[in-house]
Amino acid sequence: MSISLETIVSLAKRRGFVFQSSEIYGGLNGCWDYGPLGVELLNNIKREWWQAMTFREDIEGIDAAILMHPKVWEASGHVANFTDPMVDCKECKARFRADQLEDAMCGNPAYKGRKAIKCMEEGKFTEPRQFNLMFKTFIGPVEDEAAIVYLRPETAQGIFVNFLNVLNSSRQKIPFGIAQIGKAFRNEINTKNFLFRTREFEQMEMQYFVRPGEDMKWFEYWKEERMNWFVNLGLKKEKLRFSPHPEDKLAHYAKAAVDIEYEFPFGWGEIEGIHNRTNFDLTQHSNYSGKVLDYFDDETKEKYIPFIIETSAGASRSFMTFLIDAYFEEEVRGEKRVVLKLHQKLAPIKVGIFPLVNRDGMPEIAQNITKDLRKDFRVFYDDKGAVGRRYRRQDEVGTPYCVTVDSQTLQDQTVTIRERDSMEQIRIDMNKIREFLKDKLD
Ligand code: ATP
Repeated sequence: MSISLETIVSLAKRRGFVFQSSEIYGGLNGCWDYGPLGVELLNNIKREWWQAMTFREDIEGIDAAILMHPKVWEASGHVANFTDPMVDCKECKARFRADQLEDAMCGNPAYKGRKAIKCMEEGKFTEPRQFNLMFKTFIGPVEDEAAIVYLRPETAQGIFVNFLNVLNSSRQKIPFGIAQIGKAFRNEINTKNFLFRTREFEQMEMQYFVRPGEDMKWFEYWKEERMNWFVNLGLKKEKLRFSPHPEDKLAHYAKAAVDIEYEFPFGWGEIEGIHNRTNFDLTQHSNYSGKVLDYFDDETKEKYIPFIIETSAGASRSFMTFLIDAYFEEEVRGEKRVVLKLHQKLAPIKVGIFPLVNRDGMPEIAQNITKDLRKDFRVFYDDKGAVGRRYRRQDEVGTPYCVTVDSQTLQDQTVTIRERDSMEQIRIDMNKIREFLKDKLD
């Protein structure tokens, strides 16, 4: 089944997953707000990632500040190199990334449907200029060169500069990693494809410090681990692939790099990068800060600057990927059913609870069940409309189970539990609902 991005954007808005930022003012390009269900899904993705990383004995977590010393970005190479080539159309004044003209559309309504590359061929564009993607702001009241700070364009640097702090306070030994989830900001020239390329987004990054010489072994290890993470959380295997960076396209610091790509409605796109960053980062920060960032191995008595294997995923891009991958339209008894087959761990609501009708004490029983289950799960109580409609509403947001209280409940204290994907219904004792859900959801 092929689905359009518009279908996902519209579901996301209608059901409270994602709204345009500052919508009542006409929106702010490249920025999005997560609504009540969206924030649950996003938090669930981040929690799964955090646990996959920090429940291991060899990984510690941190949460570094967004604003960092401006020297960090000189040392990292971002001030000099974090640029994209930009061109302007002399005719319609639209701006484009010069290396992405194949995918971009001309902004002039007079040439509707024409690709921007055509305008370039006709000489409508200016020469490319390098545009730095970092957002600048000022620290303190004086807005001059000396007060410039940047909103971080990646979370990784907060990890590198804390390497010694974490090493010394955690008593880890190499190999070990540091994980972090946080906001990053890039002043992208063109934002597009919903959450795929935005100006404010969230990253989930882990930097794994290893002995030089063991770097490629760990690169291969993390490549597999990260692919398995996506597959185990339900993404379709056939929609995922590795895309290695050719040697002549590697970033200046990298020895090897591979992207995990997903096949979106608009084509294949990166969701996570795994990079062998060599000892570039710690060497640079050591040179710029004047601090020794070596590691001393007690056992072998060797001293070295560790190599770093980085796993860098977008939380927001993963969010969009899980949403798209889970979306199904099916025909059930002559009617269209929209269902999000989200992994149970990611589902924003775990169980819907309904009284079949609003009389004979059914609402009271259903409310008591709701109150009780809320201690453990995110629950949604719904007594509006036909029960079939209520099932559909929960299907559309990925709720794995629905419990219905009906007239038989009044006689024998059993309820119906209906499973989202198979739509199968079973009856169980209402005192066993928690046990059932715990068993299924864990
Ligand atoms: P691209 O080539 O698409 O600009 P990149 O190679 O610069 O991306 P990285 O710097 O490797 O991306 O970033 C790591 C991850 O952060 C990406 O895999 C993606 O999931 C996420 N990411 C990067 N830029 C954006 C953005 N503008 N909006 C949303 N997520 C992003």
